[in-house]
Amino acid sequence: MSFKQLGLSEPLLKAISKKGYENPSPIQAKAIPPVLDGYDVLASAQTGTGKTAGFTLPLLHILSENPKEKFRPIRALVLTPTRELAAQVYANVKEYSEFLNLRSAVIFGGVNQKPQVANIRKGVDVLVATPGRLIDLNNQGLLSLKRVEIFVLDEADRMLDMGFLRDIERVMKLMPDKRQNLMFSATFSKDIKKLAFNILKNPVQVEATPENTAVEAISQKVYRVAKGLKTGLVIKLISDGNWKQVLVFTRTKHGANKLTKKMISSGITAAAIHGNKSQGARTKALKGFKDGTIRVMVATDIAARGLDIPLLPHVINFEIPNISEDYVHRIGRTGRAGAKGEAISLVSADETQYLRDIEKLIGEKLKVEILEGFEPDPNASTAPIKPGQNRQKRNPNKAKSQGSNSGRRNAKSSGNSSGNGGRNRNRNKNKSRTSDRRSNTTRN
Ligand code: AMP
Repeated sequence: MSFKQLGLSEPLLKAISKKGYENPSPIQAKAIPPVLDGYDVLASAQTGTGKTAGFTLPLLHILSENPKEKFRPIRALVLTPTRELAAQVYANVKEYSEFLNLRSAVIFGGVNQKPQVANIRKGVDVLVATPGRLIDLNNQGLLSLKRVEIFVLDEADRMLDMGFLRDIERVMKLMPDKRQNLMFSATFSKDIKKLAFNILKNPVQVEATPENTAVEAISQKVYRVAKGLKTGLVIKLISDGNWKQVLVFTRTKHGANKLTKKMISSGITAAAIHGNKSQGARTKALKGFKDGTIRVMVATDIAARGLDIPLLPHVINFEIPNISEDYVHRIGRTGRAGAKGEAISLVSADETQYLRDIEKLIGEKLKVEILEGFEPDPNASTAPIKPGQNRQKRNPNKAKSQGSNSGRRNAKSSGNSSGNGGRNRNRNKNKSRTSDRRSNTTRN
């Protein structure tokens, strides 16, 4: 199967070959034909499978086949949960549309709206947006979605995790009923299926990897280790292996900062990326990580969502997530587009239950190792981490800017990476998938 056989136009084929892609990835081969045929599509695909091109290429094809009047109304809307993902999807849209007469723009919160508004005023065919800024600009009368023909909901599961259900419903009301809908999600909980039922009409379902399974190209390993020895172990693994590009996940923003400092003092270049970092700081960290000047990027789940780092060789879970599906997302950062990757999880006694839950979800037992000098603590309790544990002691006056467990529930918290400028009031409305464990955890 070639891109040409999928029926894509010459200008798109030219852009694809400029990107260096030889053949469509499985999700592209499956999703592109039904999208071109005008069907709604529900795609099961995680980041790294080539899903962005899976919806962008046919979307651009359709729009360019039916050019509109001189003033360009927004005809395609791509909604993403985070700024990073929005920026990355936009970069893809720009590249793929290089030889087409189509304009695109991206909008997200956390930065001045003026340049974004100026761009939209010039007329754009494709808009990539995070929900918060999109609704803000719509409320200010600065954009209209009344002419949208194609709506893409990217990383729908993460949207719900971040509490965007109400925002998605509001955005849907701003678009005409008659439109083509594409929904991409890595995992399929009951809530996602319900959302899909509400958005999509007779969708064609496609999947790149079976539901809730980890990507096969990834070798997965667990190190059982005492909690207090994790930092030493992670530094040893990276130094001994001479690993050059490692993404490390921590549970909290504070944990990410602390670990980053320790890495730097051990001579490993590292940067933290999380919701309390400015957009500029994140962009700089990501750039350094991509160009090799930063060896280790320490990230929290939400901040890492949507980062486009091709061929990432190593992912380390400094703490394993208590939401099993996050494990699938995290390790999806490695082994991208068929390349082999390694996912390592450091598991202390109090994470035993979380590990079992993950193994249940992915349907396999993970290989466990113990490294000499970094043994687990035989006397440590296996009771799961309690609410408030693992958190920094904070000055209550600083609560707003620090972000914390309560930050996620705090309507005034600014610590989110979605770019919705602190519009958190709808957060946690989407509780049905939310277990007590989830609400006990810092989700940065
Ligand atoms: P995505 O899942 O959309 O984030 O894409 C993951 C990575 O795969 C990106 O770096 C893309 O540039 C790359 N990619 C997408 N499609 C292909 C393809 N057909 N062949 C090779 N690489 C691709």
